[in-house]
Amino acid sequence: MKKCVSILGATGSIGQSTADVIDAMPERFEVCTVTAHTDARGLADVVMRLKARRAVIADASQEEALAAALKGYDVMIESGAEALEYAVQSDTDLTVAAISGIAGLRPLMHAIKNSKAVAIANKEPLVAAGDLVKSLALRHDTQILPIDSEHNAVFQVFNPVQRCGIRRIILTASGGPFRTWNEKQIAKATPAQAVEHPNWDMGAKISVDSASMMNKALEVIEAHVLFDMPPAQIDVLIHPQSVVHSMVEYVDGSVLAQMGASDMRTPIAYALGWPERIETPGQRLDLTALSRLEFEEPDLTRFPALRLAYECLGKGPMACLTLNAANEVAVAAFLQEKIAFPEILSTIEFALRQEPDINLDTIDSVEQADEAVRSVALTYIEEHCAGAMKKLKA
Ligand code: NAD
Ligand code: MG
Repeated sequence: MKKCVSILGATGSIGQSTADVIDAMPERFEVCTVTAHTDARGLADVVMRLKARRAVIADASQEEALAAALKGYDVMIESGAEALEYAVQSDTDLTVAAISGIAGLRPLMHAIKNSKAVAIANKEPLVAAGDLVKSLALRHDTQILPIDSEHNAVFQVFNPVQRCGIRRIILTASGGPFRTWNEKQIAKATPAQAVEHPNWDMGAKISVDSASMMNKALEVIEAHVLFDMPPAQIDVLIHPQSVVHSMVEYVDGSVLAQMGASDMRTPIAYALGWPERIETPGQRLDLTALSRLEFEEPDLTRFPALRLAYECLGKGPMACLTLNAANEVAVAAFLQEKIAFPEILSTIEFALRQEPDINLDTIDSVEQADEAVRSVALTYIEEHCAGAMKKLKA
């Protein structure tokens, strides 16, 4: 029996890597639904490559272009926000959640109801609404499989039967493109420099998050949500080679690590094949080519984002939601050259001082809180950030 896979965010970096793994194993997989935001051409290419049954484009103005590109193909086409939310139908065995940002929350929640398993790359819904996602998965008996490389690594070496014997989770971080830069250089970083990651080829938003170390901050919260570990038992180490993707340390002194090439097709294949192991077209690790593996403590002065993750976990779910929403707004503003790099963090710190007072028990309330934080962050950017950017551009 073939596994039927749906891909939310099929045109992105994770979406394309998922397509590579599926394409290499047509005897194992077929494809139900694929979705994209605005890229009709890219979505049509995935449909043709994977012979998908359904294509959903969130931007309704692109439906005509999608239909034209897929003329003559046996595929159902839909568009708009509602079609995106309900994109995953019950013919799906496994959904790959690879939309970028909180925009992936509603489609993910619906996918949890309609698939047997959800393989989650899209970390933002876990950070902003972890409890909702987990409780829905529990209610529908849907398996959550992490794709984010660190969490996938932990999932592979975290033995739930020995949970009491786990001392800590150690998430590794490459350190990003500014790992060796001083504070002055970081203050002047441009979007082009921030998206230039030394080890991984990823979408723009997560690349900027890696440069600020906000990606690791989000991942500390993601690890807390996925593995139910207290923040004090989640540590981060800088590991510039990106070979050890993360580790679990047990009380007897054993440290179990998952290693591999810096290629997302490995964690994606792990999730697609689970509980079996499958081949991938991805790169393989050449152990003889490794001269050394380095690990060091993160520098919280140059990269204060990580400190915020622990503060937010201490405060609770609304602080985590606020961190995520303000970061999304600030990263978008940075990519549009509206704010300077350090202002990403000052925007988030400002928003964290004005957390909304809303009970986060439904998707509507999560979205309401997300909107409120976005509006605070946008106001801060308009009122406080124009000067620094002008100075940088001068
Ligand atoms: P990307 O920008 O390359 O792709 C994002 C995908 O989501 C695209 O298909 C796009 O069309 C869709 N999308 C974006 N905004 C949308 C919206 N508002 N409505 C509907 N669809 C929308 O991003 P990516 O690098 O593939 O990352 C996807 C997710 O996976 C992110 O949450 C990221 O943090 C996570 N992740 C990525 C990597 C990686 O190597 N790229 C690694 C770990 C985790
Ligand atoms: Mg990661």
